[in-house]
Amino acid sequence: MSDLCAPVFAANWKMCHGPAETGAFMERFVARYPPCDDATVVVFPPAISLPAFAVAAADRPDLQFGVQDVHTEVAGAHTGAISAAMVPATGATWGLAGHSERRREFGDKDADVALKLRRLLEAGLRPVLCVGETIEEREAGQLATVIERQIHGALSSIGAAGRTRLVYAYEPVWAIGTGRTASPEDAAEGHAIVREQLAAAGAGDSARAVILYGGSVKPANIGQLLAAPGVDGVLVGGASLDPDSWAAICAAGR
Ligand code: PEP
Repeated sequence: MSDLCAPVFAANWKMCHGPAETGAFMERFVARYPPCDDATVVVFPPAISLPAFAVAAADRPDLQFGVQDVHTEVAGAHTGAISAAMVPATGATWGLAGHSERRREFGDKDADVALKLRRLLEAGLRPVLCVGETIEEREAGQLATVIERQIHGALSSIGAAGRTRLVYAYEPVWAIGTGRTASPEDAAEGHAIVREQLAAAGAGDSARAVILYGGSVKPANIGQLLAAPGVDGVLVGGASLDPDSWAAICAAGR
């Protein structure tokens, strides 16, 4: 993933920060995080806040943004849904796929994730494929098989050129929003498995793939997680909602 500057700091705001809060967040964040060309910062606001983010970041082309989810179809009778094809007009250039909350709450299967990745790529967006095991799967010794299934399933309909554009996020589900962070050793193990599976799936040069860690990252643990072998950045939920906390996390890339 040579065209991306690592570390990558990605913020997933989930269903938080509407347009007004997005403007207020950005006013404070840009004052605390001057432009930096040694890292990539990308925010995933709720879809309704994408235009507000674009306005607030108009003078900061270093701050990128993306959509949290898209439909598997390009257009049609899907009330409430958003198509990947609609996203570039907002200025957003990234898209998440396979987040564990989409899998759990909305029933996204690996085949849906594969199609969403395809739609994101067709729209010219850069996808982040999220994978990770539940606590039950981990305790049953299924870490590697879950990641294998998720990666191979998601990449099934993506051609070689598309695969080189993907970013990956290893997010152990038991560490998301729980305050229970994976140790640097756990993160390194998960990232090594993702890399092995990328190699097995023929996803380009797996040694150069950008793999983010996600799960209760905060200013207090960003240093040790970023230092873990194979960790190229982070995907952050809760601690990205506060501009001071998010600026402190991104400052770890300086
Ligand atoms: C996430 O939603 O991807 C995430 C990692 O959340 P949190 O940082 O709150 O655990």
